[in-house]
Amino acid sequence: MAEAEASVLYAVPAPGVARVTLNRPQRKNAQNVELLYALDAAFQRAARDPAVKVVILDAAGDTFSSGHDLSADADSPLEGFNLVGLWADFQAPGQEGQMGREWEIYLGLCERWRSLPKPTIAQVQGKCIAGGLMLAWVCDLIVAGETASFQDPVVAFGICGAEYFMHPFELGARRAKDWLFTSDWLSAEEARQVGMVSRVFPDAELAAETLSLAQRIAQKPLFALKMAKEAINQSQDAAGRRTALLQSFSIHQLCHSHWRSIHGVPVDPSGLPPKLREGIYDYFRKVEDGR
Ligand code: ZN
Repeated sequence: MAEAEASVLYAVPAPGVARVTLNRPQRKNAQNVELLYALDAAFQRAARDPAVKVVILDAAGDTFSSGHDLSADADSPLEGFNLVGLWADFQAPGQEGQMGREWEIYLGLCERWRSLPKPTIAQVQGKCIAGGLMLAWVCDLIVAGETASFQDPVVAFGICGAEYFMHPFELGARRAKDWLFTSDWLSAEEARQVGMVSRVFPDAELAAETLSLAQRIAQKPLFALKMAKEAINQSQDAAGRRTALLQSFSIHQLCHSHWRSIHGVPVDPSGLPPKLREGIYDYFRKVEDGR
């Protein structure tokens, strides 16, 4: 595949800084499986290049990421990709196949990316929705353009929240509940106030300011950066982050299983706009037929 057509781009815009770019702007950077494993390959490349000290994750187009790709190519088989876990039998009936699939492509990949032992910066412009949040949340810093906004609307269709359930850790418990219960948008400035976003820049200056920030960080000793990251990540895990994440993932699977038992599809279609509702039925019918 030509570089210009790749779903993830890789560049070194300054010494010590790698830039990984989500490159499906025509799909609002919705995540299909191909994009997720291309992203994993790009993160591996940055991790293994001793000249890279800081990684920026940005996105082409006007949207950081619209979430999981619920279109025709989103249910592609996982076999053939470089899987990061040992879950398998992704075509198993009931909740078994879907749980294994979501463990692999959401929880497994996200936890792996969170542990990339170099500083990572998500550079968010435009909208960041549901599954899009997981790509921002795995990064160490999130910087945003002033018109960026964040939303996880999945409660509207019967699910407790996106699979990578970092909501209470990112927003605090009460704000996270308010945000999930209402499906409201969180502005860049509101996200900064709750601590989810560390810096907000004018949209036109976002890329340059993010690169400048990355270059400042890249001046520090890499080993110290790795250890600072590790110390804070371990502090979060000592406080129960990973345990809560795994429990919330199981609750997420309970939600899918509940709606599957009632509607035959793993979400509640009644909360969706009519056009999307039909699409959801068609999509999951096709997934089920493939099993
Ligand atoms: Zn799910």
